[in-house]
Amino acid sequence: MHTAHNVDLAPHTTFGVRALCDTLVTVRSTQELAEALESYPEARILGGGSNILCTSDVHGPVIHLRLMGVTKTDTLVTAQAGESWHGLVTWCVERGLGGLENLALIPGTVGAAPMQNIGAYGVEQDACCAGVTVMDRRTRELIRLLPTDCAFGYRTSRFKQEWRNRYVITEVQYRLSNAPDYHVHTEYRDVAEELAARHCSQPSLRDVYEAVVAIRQRKLPDPASIGNAGSFFKNPVVLASQAAALRDVHPQMPTYPQSDGTVKIAAAWLIDQCGWKGYREHDAGVHDRQALVLVNHGTAVGAEILDLANRIQQSVVERFGIPLETEVNVW
Ligand SMILES: Cc1cc2nc3c(=O)[nH]c(=O)nc-3n(C[C@H](O)[C@H](O)[C@H](O)COP(=O)(O)OP(=O)(O)OC[C@H]3O[C@@H](n4cnc5c(N)ncnc54)[C@H](O)[C@@H]3O)c2cc1C
Repeated sequence: MHTAHNVDLAPHTTFGVRALCDTLVTVRSTQELAEALESYPEARILGGGSNILCTSDVHGPVIHLRLMGVTKTDTLVTAQAGESWHGLVTWCVERGLGGLENLALIPGTVGAAPMQNIGAYGVEQDACCAGVTVMDRRTRELIRLLPTDCAFGYRTSRFKQEWRNRYVITEVQYRLSNAPDYHVHTEYRDVAEELAARHCSQPSLRDVYEAVVAIRQRKLPDPASIGNAGSFFKNPVVLASQAAALRDVHPQMPTYPQSDGTVKIAAAWLIDQCGWKGYREHDAGVHDRQALVLVNHGTAVGAEILDLANRIQQSVVERFGIPLETEVNVW
């Protein structure tokens, strides 16, 4: 276990905003995690920092999870929380194990994936999740949870709700497929178009993986060149009647009917309609190609980015009557 004081979290988060952390404890084993939690049961948990915006200095301890290792038994893959998510996806694709390929290139760690049930291009991690091992902050006991315990939903889970301060995720298991008739997910329009452009009519899971990587490299800002945390807001989900009323007034509004009868609306479209795409004030801004992504052009502080987010939310409510929920964790 390594403890450091007055550490700038800028290099530890993809927004890259300056925030001094009192105490940063790096743990590399469950034993070290148990020791750290004994001293700091309320500590914040830091993975890859790709879904966090620090709006001021961080008072109180932060535990940086660096538990590493990936193993496989047949098609059951077990990955430790500190492993790179994209590294795990690549590892699985290289071994012909299908299920996670649509989630390639999502930044961050394995341990954070169940938190908001990461998803992209028509697939969410719960489609293959077989179990989540957690450490209880108070008892330091390791507990194996089933996916049904976790209440996974669209960018949410119990870990983001009532279990927020109860458990630390230490490892995640995925049941993947190496069956010859494994069905890749190409229903999402961007994926289908990319595969068609590559003249790939019978895509393998590697083809889908490569298509997703290419789409993401083209469309999403790389945090290595411009600070961001991906989508800042969730796509709002409304009742079918509200969506129909909105479409009467805004016929071009992109809407996606859900299996439970609700309708998802593209938050990026709402933000774009309010004129925010490409907006910049000092170094805080909205990406010029992806209105859902707030960016740090260099020296923005977290409070400026949060203030911009608040103004975007306010303008979307005023224009469309829809509250946008923040996806990024604000510290
Ligand atoms: C360019 C870009 C693109 C992105 N695209 C997507 C996308 O397509 N789909 C998507 O879903 N997300 C996307 N994201 C968001 C982000 O990558 C994911 O949410 C990712 O899972 C965060 O992982 P992390 O390790 O960086 O978590 P962190 O940012 O370190 O932490 C996020 C939250 O989880 C908590 N946490 C982290 N690890 C643990 C743990 N082991 N136990 C308990 N709590 C923990 C933290 O305390 C914090 O509240 C994107 C981000 C970026 C920068």
